[in-house]
Amino acid sequence: MEDKYDVIVAGAGMAGSLAAAVAAKSGLKVALLDRNKEHEVGKKTNWGWVCGDAVADSHLKFIKEKIGLTFDYPELDVKVDGVLVISPDMQYRIPFEGEGYVLNRPAFEQKLNHEARRHGVEYISEFEVEGPIIENNYISGVFGKDKEMHHKELRAKVVIDALGVATNLRRKLPENLFVDRVIDIADMESTGRFIYDFEVDHEDLNYYDPKNALIHLNQIWAPGGYGWVFPKKGNRVNIGLGIQKESLEIRNKKLGRKDTLHSLIDEYVKINPVIKNPTIHNANNNGKGYWSVAVRRQLDSLVFNGYLGAGDSMAMPNPISAGGIGPALVSGILAGESAVRAIQNGDMSISSMWQYNVDFNEAYGKKTAGLEVFRTYLQSLNNDIINYGMRMFITAKEAEDLSYGRIPELSLAKKAKIALQGAANIRAFNNLLYVVKKMEKLNRIYENYPRSPEEFQKWRELVNKDMEEAKTRFKPNPI
Ligand SMILES: Cc1cc2nc3c(=O)[nH]c(=O)nc-3n(C[C@H](O)[C@H](O)[C@H](O)COP(=O)(O)OP(=O)(O)OC[C@H]3O[C@@H](n4cnc5c(N)ncnc54)[C@H](O)[C@@H]3O)c2cc1C
Repeated sequence: MEDKYDVIVAGAGMAGSLAAAVAAKSGLKVALLDRNKEHEVGKKTNWGWVCGDAVADSHLKFIKEKIGLTFDYPELDVKVDGVLVISPDMQYRIPFEGEGYVLNRPAFEQKLNHEARRHGVEYISEFEVEGPIIENNYISGVFGKDKEMHHKELRAKVVIDALGVATNLRRKLPENLFVDRVIDIADMESTGRFIYDFEVDHEDLNYYDPKNALIHLNQIWAPGGYGWVFPKKGNRVNIGLGIQKESLEIRNKKLGRKDTLHSLIDEYVKINPVIKNPTIHNANNNGKGYWSVAVRRQLDSLVFNGYLGAGDSMAMPNPISAGGIGPALVSGILAGESAVRAIQNGDMSISSMWQYNVDFNEAYGKKTAGLEVFRTYLQSLNNDIINYGMRMFITAKEAEDLSYGRIPELSLAKKAKIALQGAANIRAFNNLLYVVKKMEKLNRIYENYPRSPEEFQKWRELVNKDMEEAKTRFKPNPI
């Protein structure tokens, strides 16, 4: 049995619901498919809506400007002044991302889904997407299993892949020169996240701050990643950490330990001196979960014939902060707009939909390759060097600029005159100079993102060359 739509959006998370809403608002016939039960919209996995749930206000403003949708309590659980990155020795704090919110994630997803349905989207829950239908090198639909476990093929002019990080659409695309089907494991973080109710033992703003989202850089606690403590309403907290597999292996070997992601999170909660008597807050069965997040630049092309990708399916989370909500929201809207244009033009080819790549690059993507280099650099530093670097190398303003992918105004080279001590620190400082140069160069390359698919391969070679050079230079070295 077959159904025909203008647009099929696979995955009703952040990116998918918005893409569907935008396409349906233009009068298109849109199906939004998800494996979740209807009341669990946006749940990423059996483990729940696993996420830190922090999002910068700027991304919510983007939605308001584009489609007029605004948010309030309860989907915005708590307002925060920003994100503070704290050094391993707890002596230095760097603000970034600006004002934002910690979301009530299930409520936020419901609101986006409601918006999609309000515009006429047909929401098909409990549908397991198994792969793309491929005809003449075009994606012309998806196949999978419906609620009754019957095989079903659904066809559409455009398929939007919003299936998240484990997408089995992107991974089953035909071999092609545009959208990568595989992501390097070194660019992935394994993460765990708990939501706890707790009693405040005593105030210590380095460990829990009701007005800020805290990130702990610490290669012992969270090798190759970081830990976070994000406030929720009342004495409730979203706490978790992410690790890079290779960094954890190196750390364990050097320390003679057998820690796992699970044991590290338990330890991270235990050592937090503010959190007393934590009990899992298990509303919506969302208290405790594990999942993965990609921390690289978004895929070089998000477009294939008949196919657009948005959100985590395209590795969009920020390489430094793993913040993927913002780019998922932004890309969802832009992918929806792109599908509308393609259908109006009657041309669903890569060339016709290429503008989506350009739009996403402009709205968000152009800083991420530089940030990927910066992330690789950070993963090559041990705690002592991170402490020293946060004290000596850069001001908080410069670090904030770097975290946004901006190149600090002040020439770092001038600081070479600072009396840096220790060969490892001097090497790390010189490497930082290298990173800033590389970021500058990659930002320039991304400013010139190809305007058509014909220019793409040449452009991509430029990116790969710089990226490979940086990745050869910086290897995980947590201890
Ligand atoms: C532990 C953790 C902490 C994070 N913290 C933050 C944070 O604080 N701030 C931030 O900005 N980002 C954070 N992120 C990243 C953020 O959660 C994601 O970037 C965001 O959820 C991406 O949204 P999405 O719509 O692309 O995908 P998802 O949210 O993954 O949604 C995908 C949807 O597709 C459905 N689906 C998947 N496969 C199938 C299938 N085969 N068939 C049918 N349906 C399917 C799923 O059920 C789900 O509804 C974090 C990630 C993790 C793992």
